[in-house]
Amino acid sequence: MNSGREKVVITGCRHYHPVEVRQGLREIFKPFGGIESVIGRGQKILIKPNLLAAVPPAEAVTTHPLVVRVLAEMIQEAGGKVFIGDSPGSDRQELAHRVSGLEEVMKKTGAEMLVFEKIKEVESTIRGLKAIPLAAELDEVDLVINVGKLKTHSLTGMTGAVKNLFGCVVGANKKRFHLEHPLPLDFSRLLLSVSLAVKPAFSVLDAVVAMEGPGPRRGKPRQLGLLMGSPNPVALDTVAAEVLGFFPEQVTTVAAARDFKLNGADPDDIDLVGLSIEEARVTDFDRGPAATGKLSRLFALLPVAMLKNFFYARRPYPQVNRERCTGCGICREACPTQVIRITDGLASIEHYECIRCYCCQELCPHGAIMLVNSPSH
Ligand code: SF4
Ligand code: SF4
Repeated sequence: MNSGREKVVITGCRHYHPVEVRQGLREIFKPFGGIESVIGRGQKILIKPNLLAAVPPAEAVTTHPLVVRVLAEMIQEAGGKVFIGDSPGSDRQELAHRVSGLEEVMKKTGAEMLVFEKIKEVESTIRGLKAIPLAAELDEVDLVINVGKLKTHSLTGMTGAVKNLFGCVVGANKKRFHLEHPLPLDFSRLLLSVSLAVKPAFSVLDAVVAMEGPGPRRGKPRQLGLLMGSPNPVALDTVAAEVLGFFPEQVTTVAAARDFKLNGADPDDIDLVGLSIEEARVTDFDRGPAATGKLSRLFALLPVAMLKNFFYARRPYPQVNRERCTGCGICREACPTQVIRITDGLASIEHYECIRCYCCQELCPHGAIMLVNSPSH
C-alpha cells in the first residue's frame, strides 16, 4: 500500500495559552496551505478529541480543551461548522464533556455535540478483518479532524493519532473487539482498520502536556511543550514514537502498519517540517510497562509472528488494590471476558481467563487496578 512520501509537522507550544496554541496550530497547518486548504467553506467538520473518561484536563488523560477550542475557532474562521464527538469508554458522553472541559468549549464556540449512538458497518480494507461498526453519525459531517492526546498505553505501547480513532466505534463493540483481538498486534491491526475507515482529513497530537508511565489513564502528566500534525495518522504516530524514544516495534499500531507497508510507517518515507526529531526528542520519557525493561529491546529484532508470542508471555496481569476499590462495578461492566466479580463491595479477577486487554485499568475511576507480573488471588 506504500505509494509516496508523507509530511509531519512538529512545533513547540510550551503552555496551554490561547496565543501559543493558535500559533502552534497555525504552524502545523501552514505546510498544507493553512487550515483553509484542509477544510472547505460551509463544510461540517467533526473534531474528534481523546475523551477517554470524565477526567479534568490537568490529569492529561484527555485532549486539552484549549487545543480543541482554538482549533474550533480556526475552523469557524475558515468558514466551517464545528461538531465535537467521541464515544468515551464508560462515563456518559455528557458527563465526560463537562468534566473534561469540552462542554465549556461548546458554549464558548457554539460547536455542537455529535452523540455517537447509531452504527454503520464499513468494510475493512485490511485483509482478514470483518466489517467495522463505526458511528453512523460520521455521515452527518463532511470531514473529520482527529485531535489525540499523546500518552503511553499498557496494551499498544503508545496512544496517539491512530488509537484515538477507536472512539469512532460505538459503545459495546469496543468490548467485543478486545475479546476478538486480544493480542496487541492483532488489536492494532483492527485499530488501523478503523483509522483507514474513518479517513480523517487531518490529525493533530496534543503533546503540550503528555502522559508518561502507566497510561492511558493512570500515568503522570509530563510537559513536552509540543504540538504535532499530519494528514496521515500513521506517519504522525511513527514520528511521535521516535520523539518519545520508542522502538517502532514497541508501539504496536506502528509495528502493524509496517507489517502492512502502510504509508507513513517507515520513517525514511516521512518529510519532517518544523522541529527535527533530535530537537523534539525526550530522552528520559517513562515509556510505561509495555516498553520498559531490557527485553523490550528485542522487539526491534523479532519477526512479527514471534513478537506476538513474546508479547503475550511477558504482559502483566491486572490486580485489584483492595485499599482503593470501592466496588463501583465499572471494571466489571468494561471487562470483555466477564472475569471480574464484585463480592462484599470489592472487585476480584479470575486471571485464568483474563485476556489482559487492560480495559479495567483504563476505566477504573479510583486507580484501583494495578498491573503486576504475578497476580495474587
Ligand atoms: S476496581 Fe475500580 S472500577 Fe472495579 S469495582 Fe473497584 S473501584 Fe470500581
Ligand atoms: S480483567 Fe481486565 S484485563 Fe482482564 S479481560 Fe477483564 S478487563 Fe481485560
